[in-house]
Amino acid sequence: MKECLHCKKEYEAKRDSSKFCSVNCRVKFNRANGSKNKVTGIQAQVLYNAMLEMVEKITDFPSPKVYDSERLPIAHKDEPPMYLAKPTVSQYDAYFNEIKAVRMLDDIPDLVKIIKADTDLPKWQQDNLVKFAIEHSKTFDF
Ligand SMILES: [Zn+2]
Repeated sequence: MKECLHCKKEYEAKRDSSKFCSVNCRVKFNRANGSKNKVTGIQAQVLYNAMLEMVEKITDFPSPKVYDSERLPIAHKDEPPMYLAKPTVSQYDAYFNEIKAVRMLDDIPDLVKIIKADTDLPKWQQDNLVKFAIEHSKTFDF
């Protein structure tokens, strides 16, 4: 038996994570404790990044992310993943935006050379960027 967080009555919980006896109690509790249930800035960013990651999987193109640091290895069950470092616009994203800004075919090889020479970038990021640069060059009018 569990005690409902809202009405304090005991009830038979169907799931371990259950906190309320009914939907009604959950809604009432959340309404009364609204500030605790607001999405924080970092949570919104995490959701945004997750969306971009999905788009990236579908399109095969790198997409700009606000957070590019390592995820904490342990996250609480109901928490979105948190990040070890402060949010930064990564070099990966900067290159991505540079490629997008290129309007002349001649500039692509130079940019690819710079990306390949950047040893701070992981190989998969280099590969993604080069792939994107090639795809981007195909969109030019001749
Ligand atoms: Zn209740």
